[in-house]
Amino acid sequence: MLVKPKTGLLNKFYFFEITTGLWITMKNFFFGKKVTIQYPEEKRNYSKRFRGLHYIKTVNGVENCTACMLCPTVCPAECIHIEAGERPDKEKYPVIFDIDILRCCYCGFCEEACPKDAIKLSTIYEMAEHHREKGVYTKASLLVQRGEK
Ligand code: SF4
Ligand code: SF4
Repeated sequence: MLVKPKTGLLNKFYFFEITTGLWITMKNFFFGKKVTIQYPEEKRNYSKRFRGLHYIKTVNGVENCTACMLCPTVCPAECIHIEAGERPDKEKYPVIFDIDILRCCYCGFCEEACPKDAIKLSTIYEMAEHHREKGVYTKASLLVQRGEK
């Protein structure tokens, strides 16, 4: 059924529509639920499942990674670069472990594939930098423990 448009003089000037719109805006402005935050002073608490900046877990101060190369193999963005070395007392370890977080799509495949539970994605989302080179996180910066989920 066709709805006949209102053709009265007041409707032609959209008086009621504008007033209703303003009323809704004012109602939300003064009495509505706050939906914005004062970032960066206020931080948003995302879900624990949020996938953010990576880190490599350590055990007794040593990286738990055995440079098995599974994570660079499954990484769809090919942004993990590992070069393995050997210690006399231990299995292999990563001499170089770089992640280009500008290419990473935060899929979490590396975390899922790791047999040693060594590579983790934290809930940290503040990774903005002024230079692209700083988007490559080296082993030293990945060894900063960023907390269990
Ligand atoms: S989260 Fe995904 S894209 Fe990022 S490093 Fe891990 S596997 Fe690669
Ligand atoms: S999958 Fe785990 S153990 Fe293997 S290279 Fe990656 S971080 Fe290291």
